[in-house]
Amino acid sequence: MKYVLVTGGVVSGLGKGVTASSIGVVLKACGLRVTSIKIDPYLNTDAGTMSPFEHGEVFVLDDGGEVDLDLGNYERFLDVRLTRDNNITTGKIYQSVLEQERRGDYLGKTVQVVPHITEAIKNWIESVSHIPVDGKEGPADVCVIELGGTVGDIESMPFIEALRQLLFSVGPNNFCLIHVSLIPVLGVVGEQKTKPTQHSVRELRALGLTPHFLACRSAEPLLENTRQKLSQFCHVPVGNILNIHDVPNIWHIPLLLRSQNAHNAILTHLDLQSVANPPNLQEWTDRAETFDNLTNSVRIAMVGKYVGMADSYLSVVKALLHACIACSLKPAIDWIAASDLEDDNALSTPEAHATAWRTLRNAACVLVPGGFGDRGVKGMVLAAKYARENRVPYLGICLGMQISVIEFARNVLGMERANSSEFDKDTPNPVVIFMPEGSKTHMGSTMRLGSRRTLFQSPDCLAAKLYHNSEHVDERHRHRYEVNPEMVNNFEESGLKFVGKDETGKRMEILELTDHPFYVGAQFHPEFKSRPGRPSPLFLGFILAAIGQLESYLQNPHNGSL
Ligand code: GLN
Repeated sequence: MKYVLVTGGVVSGLGKGVTASSIGVVLKACGLRVTSIKIDPYLNTDAGTMSPFEHGEVFVLDDGGEVDLDLGNYERFLDVRLTRDNNITTGKIYQSVLEQERRGDYLGKTVQVVPHITEAIKNWIESVSHIPVDGKEGPADVCVIELGGTVGDIESMPFIEALRQLLFSVGPNNFCLIHVSLIPVLGVVGEQKTKPTQHSVRELRALGLTPHFLACRSAEPLLENTRQKLSQFCHVPVGNILNIHDVPNIWHIPLLLRSQNAHNAILTHLDLQSVANPPNLQEWTDRAETFDNLTNSVRIAMVGKYVGMADSYLSVVKALLHACIACSLKPAIDWIAASDLEDDNALSTPEAHATAWRTLRNAACVLVPGGFGDRGVKGMVLAAKYARENRVPYLGICLGMQISVIEFARNVLGMERANSSEFDKDTPNPVVIFMPEGSKTHMGSTMRLGSRRTLFQSPDCLAAKLYHNSEHVDERHRHRYEVNPEMVNNFEESGLKFVGKDETGKRMEILELTDHPFYVGAQFHPEFKSRPGRPSPLFLGFILAAIGQLESYLQNPHNGSL
């Protein structure tokens, strides 16, 4: 196993995840099999209990792991299926060491950060790196490890020490350290400043790790003398100084790395030249260039709770992007804070209310994504009602599907107080209920999580057709509540059909409204399995409906650019 460790310095938010995934892409393009590990030095066991406001979306894996959104980047870039163990946190490591301590595995010893925590980290990395994630047998050739946070953070110290020991035990030909850093430009002369990078490299070296490569983030390409200076002061050969300057879209980054011969330098360092091919990045080149040249766009209204931070719905945004590109369009996403649509706000914040409604009415389609808690629910119900009544394409994901059920019960079935028991425990019409197997006392990892099967109830529904006429589909879940199975008949008699159910037939997975161009709800999250070049079928259908091309696509799915 060859390891490529990616660390970050100077500031957070440098795009370390995208850099690490892009390095993986270039190595994969050379014919190597690549896996990845993300280390998050925070104390939470996993990302499942963290707020998307603060930390961006919680990504869900096939095995039900609730992980950092960077794992989504890896899955999309490398087209792999990772496991929960590919995301290491301080919480997980301490939990495993403390369990061993209680079992008596260290009997008689003092359990310490060094060597016990560091040993656990090293063992974890070595065993997880061997799990195949690309559908083939046997371990990958290269494991890209991204260390979250910035070098020097107190909580990342045990990881740095463990990685130093790992380097020492596997040897420098099997371990390559790439440090991502920032080169800011200051003053009227616009000089590229290397000092922050020098400092963070010094910090890394003080901890016993010397970077073999620098990946410098900058607005403009690095000047030759900046490179020379970095090489001299940071102890990195000039040929190993990579530059990731601003590019029009992220698919350019693997191309940028290739143009700087990063693959050759990394392969030489890792002694992999003899087994690698020249990188084939044709698909990436096409995608990056196509996207730059797209001129038409489609307006998509995203009505959610967490609209202040785009990362809160990162995978939904990516899935929209994949679907739009397949239709030769750029997505124009209009974020609407659901609460702004609510009637009460017409009086308290009339301008926000008017703007929200204007934006909703201007959109070609409406998406209500997943979420928790009752903030904005009233506004989401209004958005679903608007889409249903005005025949505007609607896609409801998880909470968004539950919203459409609540809206339909209230406004079509006349159950005025219909609700989810998540939002109103005493509702006389609980159309969405707590799932029997859930836990009301423990929040961490107690939802219905991960990949589950949905069976299409008939080949005639829109969803089955979009999923290439298959009989079933496996998608990822993350929810505690579900459509009340006892009320299904009431809905179906009035035209809201549950076209996808789980294997027991009791759990509603996909709904569709008859007599509507596209009104679809999914209890699962189709966004997590969307890939560039292979958009999620429900997202594709949604965008096609928004531009009036769904019918012609369904008649001939292999037509045109699709
Ligand atoms: N809050 C809802 C539930 O727990 C929806 C969850 C979601 O949208 N991910 O069922």
